[in-house]
Amino acid sequence: MYQIAVRLMLLNIPEIWEGEASKIELRGYSVDERAMERLAVPPELLMRKPDGSVHTLSVDKIASKHCPVRRDLYLEVVGRKRGQETWGRIAGPLIESYCKGLLGSFESLYDDSQDIGYADLAKRVETYTEAFRQEHEREFSKLDGLFQKDSSEDDPEKFLLKLKHTAQTELAMLGADRLLGQSRRQEASSLLKRFPIQIGGDALSIEPAEHIGIGRLATPDLIVINPRIVGDVKSGPSIERKHLYTCTGYALAYESRYTVDVNYGVIYFFETHGKPLNSAQCYIFLIDDRLRGEFLDERNDAYRVVQAPPPFPLIGKQQIKDYCTYCKFNQKCEEDRRAANG
Ligand code: SF4
Repeated sequence: MYQIAVRLMLLNIPEIWEGEASKIELRGYSVDERAMERLAVPPELLMRKPDGSVHTLSVDKIASKHCPVRRDLYLEVVGRKRGQETWGRIAGPLIESYCKGLLGSFESLYDDSQDIGYADLAKRVETYTEAFRQEHEREFSKLDGLFQKDSSEDDPEKFLLKLKHTAQTELAMLGADRLLGQSRRQEASSLLKRFPIQIGGDALSIEPAEHIGIGRLATPDLIVINPRIVGDVKSGPSIERKHLYTCTGYALAYESRYTVDVNYGVIYFFETHGKPLNSAQCYIFLIDDRLRGEFLDERNDAYRVVQAPPPFPLIGKQQIKDYCTYCKFNQKCEEDRRAANG
């Protein structure tokens, strides 16, 4: 995650996007009548619990859209089903934990100004990764089982190689920052002191205002305070626009709670099922009104879905191949499909 700080240092994002950011109207805290009309969940979509409180959906449930008809959301929220374990469901938390762990483990790597050669760096990454693998033996063995069943899934060994490559890239950035600092004869203060990235603690627990229609707590994977950025770790074959929606939801939640602007989001993206030597990349973006509007549409759509049973499972070979194959409700929908066909 050091690359987030490096990018912030090189790009001077607030200056580049300041003009665009000042045009944002759909702020989570806005009391303007027109903005409120757009920000609040339409009354006809609100659901009340027996005690009269409003039933809300989390940012993740709203934004993590996999099934085109959102049958997965209905099964999860209304049917209270968990679905089966998929490669992505196991690998996602592993990626997050490995990458966040790098921050804590290597933060003071260069603090005592020692020179660290490539071989030493590689060894440290090797040690960190091996300890991680041993700690998560069960998860890696599940990934192996899924790969043995379906070779189109990522080979766990290839997956580990990508994690290691990510660690090496991150540490190389940390070293480059120190070298650049020295060549400029500046004190090489830690990147994270200049751009503190918070990956845990109370700062990540945001209680949104009720009108936004986002669950009781919104918890981004990371927050940077200056400039204020909310971030999320994502993984998959490629980054998609829908990946930006989680940060958008967190930004609206943060604004509604603290009445301060959150103009930027960052996706720390780890590519799976792709080339062996890829490493995680970060994408910093402006959370503009278009993105905010798209998130609010997704939110309304999600509220609509949980009120009425969605259409029957997808049909057609291509749709099933594209969506159902990697869906956690694949078995459940297959059973339902068979039952419906007699
Ligand atoms: S298995 Fe297919 S139809 Fe069922 S929820 Fe998943 S993507 Fe949708």
